[in-house]
Amino acid sequence: MTPAELRLTATASSELRTLVLPDGIEHAAVITCTVVRRADRTVLIARAVVGLDDGDVATSGDGFHLEVSPIALARLAKAAAARGETLVVVHSHPFPGRVAASPIDLARPRLTSAAPKPMWSPGTHVAFGPTSSSAAR
Ligand SMILES: [Zn+2]
Repeated sequence: MTPAELRLTATASSELRTLVLPDGIEHAAVITCTVVRRADRTVLIARAVVGLDDGDVATSGDGFHLEVSPIALARLAKAAAARGETLVVVHSHPFPGRVAASPIDLARPRLTSAAPKPMWSPGTHVAFGPTSSSAAR
């Protein structure tokens, strides 16, 4: 698997922070990206940041352990693929300190069945925290 680099403008990064870190509970968003394949890595260039609302996300009663609806992901992935783009799913870990994918993140179902081609890496998830982020795919 080649390494990947996600590039966001300062504006997109700020939008993402506003969408997924507005308070102390988990939130999710999707970044639609253009994919540039290079010999040594894949570069994902953010085109849009799309917030996911309560209709797209189920959250446990404590405000954590959210699950993004596969129907919402399929809808977004289909629209992105029609533009030749792919999706990166982002959710917040609204805790101080270094962010790392949780065991739940690593066990998340992949998007393979829902994602039309071309997708960069179905199931790419980024956990985004106040001071760092972590990607798993
Ligand atoms: Zn997580």
